Amino acid sequence: MSKIQLLQQDREHLLHPFTDFHDLGKQGTRVITNADGAYITDIDGHRMLDGMSGLWCCNLGYSRNEIADAIYEQLRTLPFYNSFFQCTTIPSIELADALSEVTPAGMNNVFFTGSGSEANDTNLRLIRRYWDLKDQPNKRIIISRKNAYHGSTIGGASLGGMSGMHKQFEALDYITHIQQPYWFGEGGDMSPEEFGVYAARCLDEKIQELGPDNIAAFIAEPIQGAGGVIIPPETYWPEVKKVLAQYDILLVVDEVIFGFGRTGEWFGSDYYGLEPDLMTFAKAVTNGYFPLGGTMVSDRVAEVVKSKGGEFTHGYTYSAHPAACMAGLATLNILRGEKIIDNVRDNTGPYLAKRWAELADHPIVGETRSLGMVGALELVKDKGSRARFDDDCTAGGICRDMSIKNGLVMRATGDTMIIAPPLIITTEQVDELVEKARRALDDTAKALA
Ligand SMILES: *Cc1c(COP(=O)(O)O)cnc(C)c1O
Repeated sequence: MSKIQLLQQDREHLLHPFTDFHDLGKQGTRVITNADGAYITDIDGHRMLDGMSGLWCCNLGYSRNEIADAIYEQLRTLPFYNSFFQCTTIPSIELADALSEVTPAGMNNVFFTGSGSEANDTNLRLIRRYWDLKDQPNKRIIISRKNAYHGSTIGGASLGGMSGMHKQFEALDYITHIQQPYWFGEGGDMSPEEFGVYAARCLDEKIQELGPDNIAAFIAEPIQGAGGVIIPPETYWPEVKKVLAQYDILLVVDEVIFGFGRTGEWFGSDYYGLEPDLMTFAKAVTNGYFPLGGTMVSDRVAEVVKSKGGEFTHGYTYSAHPAACMAGLATLNILRGEKIIDNVRDNTGPYLAKRWAELADHPIVGETRSLGMVGALELVKDKGSRARFDDDCTAGGICRDMSIKNGLVMRATGDTMIIAPPLIITTEQVDELVEKARRALDDTAKALA
């Protein structure tokens, strides 16, 4: 099929996720055909450094045949079997064991799902089950944060705090959202440190307002990813930990982006010293090679849900899919065997931090921030007042297009440009990324002038 035919059929038959169906018909799509290492190539042969690891998932890049082989061999041996009705498979047992080893202390059980959204739905079910078995049925309310992303099922989207999503469906009524720790956008005249404490105190206020006896859980990403790589001020998590320590409330940490090495530690929870009761994972667990998600269940929760009889009436056909589990095992083997995460912490992460920060001198950049293998740039018209170009965030979209033109995939969240390159990126490729980002910023400034 020619490119023209492909684009026509795409327009006629394929509904894309998080896409304006009407506009896409006019703008057309980019057909990605190949990938290697940290690069993707489109149908025109345009090769781009993938600054987003696919969709935060290909942490090891695109050339790991070990993972593809593990999937293929499993598909030839036992392509599918479920883990319902007292059945199990060897890959699922082995991956559950391996995950217990690499996740924070005290997390020794896993419930597998097909995706991150499903895993957060599982969390809702586990939270309810936990408090019911503890004879505290009043504990129903879950506190999340504005602008959080926890997936796109009804449960996941209700947990998430994106206003654009909430406008298009009826959210679950027992989930409420508090201030996010987004200093650049919402910190006003406070210092980042003051604002971090303020945002954490909003959790305490909400708990007191609704009554601790009615609160089941607090859910948060360690760093908001899709919301715009919002790295909280250093004061935020220590203060949240203090708040949570006063109450009997479960902590759910959504590690779908920050799990498996993105901060330079295995999990965002390791980086911030959090002790989650439930921990959502997906995306990078299989390096994006096969759909798999799940939730790690702490001993505290596992002891309760395992202690009493009665079926947990929840599960997915593809929970613990054997080929997905083999993909997970192969990914963990590479992460451990090649000390990929140590290299991010000790070498490439600090190098990215140094080079990325240089972009702060650009006339349209109001702030740069980065940590491990993520980064963000705030596009502004005026550095001093942090004023944006316009209310519609057109600058972000322009910058994304300029970046792609210059051979770098950067994503725009409003007027915040974000990157999450593969963890295997070299220092030379970090140089390439920063140079291409600077060119994209120059082109954006020109287009906006
Ligand atoms: C992507 C994402 C999800 C949803 O995962 P899916 O596999 O797309 O369902 C949930 N939480 C966070 C933090 C994510 O980034």
